[in-house]
Amino acid sequence: MINAKPKYAGNFSRKALPEAITYYESQNIKLKGSGSWRDAICCFHADTKPSLRINVEKGAYRCMVCGAHGGDVLAFHMHKHGLHFVEACKQLGAWVGMA
Ligand SMILES: [Zn+2]
Repeated sequence: MINAKPKYAGNFSRKALPEAITYYESQNIKLKGSGSWRDAICCFHADTKPSLRINVEKGAYRCMVCGAHGGDVLAFHMHKHGLHFVEACKQLGAWVGMA
């Protein structure tokens, strides 16, 4: 009988993603300013001033210099660490369900 078990059993749980501020601090990204959009040194290019804009409500990020961008902390984690989706979910504790 064919083993039809998928390679990655489980599901992505968006609500299990860490809070944006907690996540970015854990990545040694120092957030400056206040409000929804904060400034930080971009880790995707040799940044000398805070060019990276981070939305602390959604976790979205966008660099005004190199153009790096994404919609949530998961996208950032995949981008920064070169992970694919499931690996990034697992590292962030957002992969739930079957072991
Ligand atoms: Zn950049």
